[in-house]
Amino acid sequence: MNKYNELLVTDLQGHWIWFKVRDGVYLLDRPGLERRLSEGVPSLKLGVRVEAIRGQYVYTSAGRRGPYDYVAIAEGAVRRFSHIYGEVTRLPGLQVDVKSDIGLSGITVVYNKKLSEAYFSWIVEIDRGVYRVGLADRCCVVDKLRKLVKMVGGTPVGKPFGGGVLAGPPLKRLVYGNVALLGDAAGLTKPLSGGGIILAIKSGASFGEALRTGDPSAYEYSMRPTILRLSAARAVYELMYVKGFVHEALRIFHGSEFLAIDYDDHVKTLALAMATSRKAPRALVGALRLLISRGAGGPST
Ligand SMILES: Cc1cc2nc3c(=O)[nH]c(=O)nc-3n(C[C@H](O)[C@H](O)[C@H](O)COP(=O)(O)OP(=O)(O)OC[C@H]3O[C@@H](n4cnc5c(N)ncnc54)[C@H](O)[C@@H]3O)c2cc1C
Repeated sequence: MNKYNELLVTDLQGHWIWFKVRDGVYLLDRPGLERRLSEGVPSLKLGVRVEAIRGQYVYTSAGRRGPYDYVAIAEGAVRRFSHIYGEVTRLPGLQVDVKSDIGLSGITVVYNKKLSEAYFSWIVEIDRGVYRVGLADRCCVVDKLRKLVKMVGGTPVGKPFGGGVLAGPPLKRLVYGNVALLGDAAGLTKPLSGGGIILAIKSGASFGEALRTGDPSAYEYSMRPTILRLSAARAVYELMYVKGFVHEALRIFHGSEFLAIDYDDHVKTLALAMATSRKAPRALVGALRLLISRGAGGPST
């Protein structure tokens, strides 16, 4: 639907960092994408809930089904079945489209504790004068979204969309016996942004390919580099969000402009941005100070 080549990171209190995104970030027509992906899948049963998984059978609101050679859990952020395979940080998230004349263009990522203490909020121009504004945080997202809408002088033009935003870590393994875990259910999200659409598609395609070749464990193997990358991003999440370094980084790098070489690999992007900045040593000292002073389980925000 839309392509963005720029991203502004700000606290809305005078500090900002600007990223030029090399390959762009795409806004998707998500219901359209889901319709497209479901085309040619004759066995898709809409409106039927899985209520239990036992052995090779699934028990649904429409009765028992199976036996299946493999059961793929792709239940999203609810993680009702998948939580037994490992915990993933889940924050409530909420967004709404608003009309506003705030005049921001492209994607704006906001790190302001009054709007989100534990994560961040976003203001994305989806059409001229129409913005998708949202946030994820530990609590109170309805009140905080109201505050954000007021802050941008917005008038809602659509229904709010909400759900769990997952900040990782990814599960260490994706295949357990005859059960495979995909997408959010497997914690396959980018910890620094909660973005998981591309990873859900990637894991689905990879598992499908593994089934076609008759070797489901190939799914686990092909996703290994992604899991390692997301685990590294999760470590950066701990520093940035749990220890709160993102706010200090915003002050240190205020006014900087960087090239985001890979929007899907936040760690690579941040590392290269640091490598090209003369402010990097100051940031490293700040990060180390934070790690040492709060490393022994001290206050986290
Ligand atoms: C407010 C918000 C904004 C977001 N913005 C972005 C973004 O900009 N970019 C991005 O990449 N990601 C974003 N995400 C994250 C993204 O939505 C998820 O990472 C992605 O949808 C994961 O896909 P999935 O297929 O694993 O799960 P889902 O898309 O959640 O799909 C899971 C499906 O399983 C179904 N289901 C669940 N339980 C059962 C059951 N028991 N029986 C049968 N069916 C069941 C659900 O109804 C659903 O249809 C956002 C999330 C939120 C909440």
